[in-house]
Amino acid sequence: MGKIIAIDGPSGSGKSSVSKKLAEMLGFTYLDTGAMYRAVALKLRQNKIAEDADDKIITDILRNTSLLFQDGKLFLDGVMVGDEIRTPEIGHYSSVFSARKVVRDFLFEIQRMAAEKNDIVAEGRDMTTVLFPDANGKFFLTASDRERARRRYLQLNEKGMDITMEDALRDVRERDDRDSHRDIAPLRKADDAILIDSTNLSEDETLKRIVEYIK
Ligand code: C5P
Repeated sequence: MGKIIAIDGPSGSGKSSVSKKLAEMLGFTYLDTGAMYRAVALKLRQNKIAEDADDKIITDILRNTSLLFQDGKLFLDGVMVGDEIRTPEIGHYSSVFSARKVVRDFLFEIQRMAAEKNDIVAEGRDMTTVLFPDANGKFFLTASDRERARRRYLQLNEKGMDITMEDALRDVRERDDRDSHRDIAPLRKADDAILIDSTNLSEDETLKRIVEYIK
């Protein structure tokens, strides 16, 4: 097992951009586990799988799914995953399907393996609690829901996606609620994770705080 910095937090907490920069700074591999849940949701939706589909139906699709994490890039059935997983629709389905044990079990091994071969900065919802409880550094990033919605709104608009501030706020609240109240691996701060509230912090200030703790 390599060195691991684990970062959890709700959507829009800034963990993706901060984790990416931290990985670059440390020379570690950046592991975006949210992208993995999004890729699985994409595959399930391409196969027209409904939110309440039986485990068996989902398992059959996953049995025929290859998800590879290589050199910091994610490949779904041999094709590099891009912005098609970043739509609000796939965001919604990733949160819905991530509550299913069969989906989490499928991704658990892939995520563990990534840490076998590399020093990583891993971000998601259960990095500090389930996947890497003994990580070298554990952080929980958060921000007010309005600030997180504002960031999402700006991000998606930059990508040319048409959403309003109200849509973004509804999406953030809905996902917060589902991700924190599910039975398996709910989003929560690990007791020994360092809490950083980035509501009034820039990306660089947040990064600086994490680096200070790591030192
Ligand atoms: O971080 P991101 O918004 O891309 O994650 C998409 C969804 O995937 C989250 O809303 C959450 O439901 C799920 N997820 C998870 N566990 C992780 C990472 C993401 O359940 N480790």
